Amino acid sequence: MRKLLALPLALVLLFGAGIASAKGNLADKYRADMLPRFIKYVQIDSMSDVNAEWMTPGQEKMAQALYEEIKAFGLPTYFSEDKYIYVNIPSNLSNRQAPVLGISAHYDTTPDIIGVNVKPQVIKNYDGKPIVLKNGQVIDFESDPYLRNMIGKTIVTSDGTTNLGADDKAGVTILVTLLQTLAENPKLPHGPIQVVITPNEDVGRSAERLELQYYHPDYAYDFDGGVNGEVVIGNFSADRVVVTAQGINGHQSFAAENGYRNSAKPIADLIAAAAPSQNLPNNSSGEEGYLEPHHIEYNATDNIHMVDFRLRYFDQKEGQNYLNRIQRAADSLAQALDVAINVEVTKQYENVEYGVKPEAFSLLSAAMKDAGVTPQPKKERAGTTSAMIMAKHGFGGYTVFTGQNNPHAFTEWLSEEDMFKAYKVALNLVNQVAQMNVSGK
Ligand SMILES: [Zn+2]
Repeated sequence: MRKLLALPLALVLLFGAGIASAKGNLADKYRADMLPRFIKYVQIDSMSDVNAEWMTPGQEKMAQALYEEIKAFGLPTYFSEDKYIYVNIPSNLSNRQAPVLGISAHYDTTPDIIGVNVKPQVIKNYDGKPIVLKNGQVIDFESDPYLRNMIGKTIVTSDGTTNLGADDKAGVTILVTLLQTLAENPKLPHGPIQVVITPNEDVGRSAERLELQYYHPDYAYDFDGGVNGEVVIGNFSADRVVVTAQGINGHQSFAAENGYRNSAKPIADLIAAAAPSQNLPNNSSGEEGYLEPHHIEYNATDNIHMVDFRLRYFDQKEGQNYLNRIQRAADSLAQALDVAINVEVTKQYENVEYGVKPEAFSLLSAAMKDAGVTPQPKKERAGTTSAMIMAKHGFGGYTVFTGQNNPHAFTEWLSEEDMFKAYKVALNLVNQVAQMNVSGK
């Protein structure tokens, strides 16, 4: 009996160990593909442009190249009219219904700094010395303490005349490598997976033409974060508040008779009443929001003054208080000064915390631990693609590290190792979510 029992047990143990090491080896097998893929992507100019009707010719070229590369994997790929690339992979599980895992990244690069004609420099076995680039650009430990961790490792920089574009071509590299892995290993168990690669993130429009029939997962993870382990679990909600005061034309000397009304005074008073200096950005930190009147315009022909506010907050109640204060000031000034005042609020992005499922973090954290990564959750005083999706479509997601450092700068650089670890995290996420049932258990 003992012998009979011992044999199957040993087999089970061996089998179990075999799966674990195969998983490790599987990821390692794809590591060598990642750097050349990244280098290829950063050399395609794909800057977004705030003034573009929708997108730039460079972005179109990048989108086309990505679509062709991904389609060749043989996965169900959809290239939308608005140049989003979607891949919807059906579940291959027969015994349970797993929730839908969503993974996203963006292929545009920032318009804030030149990203055309990028000449990537690969530094292997980094020796720890300051990296001197063209135009006097230097990357060193002083400006960049995290660089200390890169001694002996591979990093990539630009030549100093452009940014690198690791934001977010590191994320794109991770997603495409994940798709290649899934296509070439069809027996790897997974639930339904939705992948989207978007344009226009750096001009705040990546969620604008997202088609929910192709991307509306239960758990969404955006690969667009920074250093090893970083996870953005919360971010600012952002509202644009435009207040206009409509004056009445006429000669001011006879205002008592002709009804002339000035439009500057109501706006000046409204700013004083609704946006005291203690709520300005320079007096806000941590999880505190702010209200900034950052731009005033006058249309003389129509006698209209306009103030454009930036409103930022983590806490919905705090945001609502600001909005109430603006509306109250507008109402009482309209009455006191006898002018029409209009308040218009546009939601730009929203804190993902309002729309994330409670187990989304534990899934990610398990996937990270499997990859030897310690999760470093943080809250961002800015917006993310997930935050734009949250504002427009009401479901939130976390932003995961990709190995990009110093985005939107001539000194931007990539950690090859962190990019590879992030890919392992993505692969582990597939495994984590596949083990769940739709009930969320
Ligand atoms: Zn980005």
